[in-house]
Order: sequence, then C-alpha cells, then structure tokens
Amino acid sequence: MNTVFELRMLTRTLARWLYPGWCAVCKRLLHLTEDHLCRACFIKLARIRLPICRGCGVEIPPHTEKISRCNACRGKAITFDEIFAVFRYDDNFKQVLHQIKYERKYWLLETFKKKIKRTFQNQWPELPSFIVPVPLDKFRMKERTFNQSLIIAETISKILDIPIKKDILLRREHRSPQSWLTRRERLANLENLFQVRKRMKLKNCWVLVVDDVVTTGATVQECSKMLKEAGASKVSVFALARTPSLS
Ligand SMILES: [Zn+2]
Ligand SMILES: [Zn+2]
Repeated sequence: MNTVFELRMLTRTLARWLYPGWCAVCKRLLHLTEDHLCRACFIKLARIRLPICRGCGVEIPPHTEKISRCNACRGKAITFDEIFAVFRYDDNFKQVLHQIKYERKYWLLETFKKKIKRTFQNQWPELPSFIVPVPLDKFRMKERTFNQSLIIAETISKILDIPIKKDILLRREHRSPQSWLTRRERLANLENLFQVRKRMKLKNCWVLVVDDVVTTGATVQECSKMLKEAGASKVSVFALARTPSLS
C-alpha cells in the first residue's frame, strides 16, 4: 500500500469520524468506502443495458443491435434521433429520485457520475453542441424552487465539458398536471407547450435534451419537435431513468 493511499484513507477516516454519513435511502451508517448511498442500496438500482431501442430506450436483445428500434417504435414518427437512460424507473430508483427532487439532495447525483460517464462514452465518439434541460413550468418552479432536469444537465455538462443553454426552450404557463390525464389528453396538453426562443441559432447544431425521467416520451418528443423546427440537425435525449415500457 503506498503512502498517498494510506494518507487519503486516514483523512477519510478522520472526516467520517467527525462527520459520519448515512445512506440517503435506508439511513444505515455508511462504510468508509461508501458515498451517499450504501452498497446494498446502490446495487439494487437496475441499470439499463445496451443495446437499447433508439426510439424509446427499452433494452433490445443483443443480436438485434443493428435494427436500432424495437417493434413498438418501428414505423412510428419520432422527433428525436435517439434516446437513452441509465436506470430503470422502478421503486428503488423512485426512492432515490424522491430524495433528489423533494428533499433537495442534489449531491446524490454524484453517486451516478461514473455510470453516466460510461453511458456517454459507449454512445458517441463525438459530443453534442450543447445541452438543453427540459424546462419546468412557473408553477412547479415556484413549488420546487429548482428544476431537476437542470441539475442533471449541470452534472452532465461537467462530465462531458459541453455547455448548457437553459434559455433556448420556453415552457408556456401551467396546464393540468400530466399524471391526472389519459394518454390522449396528455398528448393534447403537451401540444405547443414548448417554444424555442426567437433568434436562437440552432442550424447544424446537435442538441442533447435532458430530463429526469422519461415515462411516455411525449414531453421530450415535443421539445425535440420544436428544436428540429428551429433548425437543429440532430436531437438526442438523455434521461436519468425511464419506465419499463412507454405507455
Ligand atoms: Zn442504504
Ligand atoms: Zn422502442
């Protein structure tokens, strides 16, 4: 064991002794090698494995990699070029996201940095021009005081070293919350919900749209549609998690 490593462990031990850490999910006292989440809680988070469908982000069998879209997405009009997420949005992940969103434990995103980085490295040899977080409406923004998509975008921006343009997409005033509506009502509710700020030059740009969770995919579809209409040449979508199947 080298001296630098020993010193680092000693500092960490001292820091933990002074400021003990607890797992954000199960509240157990953290081991020295753990950060924010205990190992048991971390490994419970189900990671989405490649290859995935470019239309909805669902896992597809390895031998179908060249097909790039699942049966449900084939032939469907999809406004973005590709979508991918790191985790499945199951009960375990919901618990973690709840802590990030409602208990404002933004630092929990640090736990996912490595996984996010690996996801991007596996996807692209080149990088998007910039990141656009999905904007929250004013009502939610007031209620929550921060936009979780922007926080995730900031983490990705640091990892990839690409800029965020948070003012490109504008969201109109608050409408009925999506969760109250049927699928048809949800789609109608989203129509023209976003617009691209005038004079934004998107020609030949590759935009990465970032959201926290993708459920139906309708929100990111609508954002991508507006970005493409404003001239973006490519739109990729990234979400921290996605539901097992898009309904
Ligand atoms: Zn735990
Ligand atoms: Zn699909």
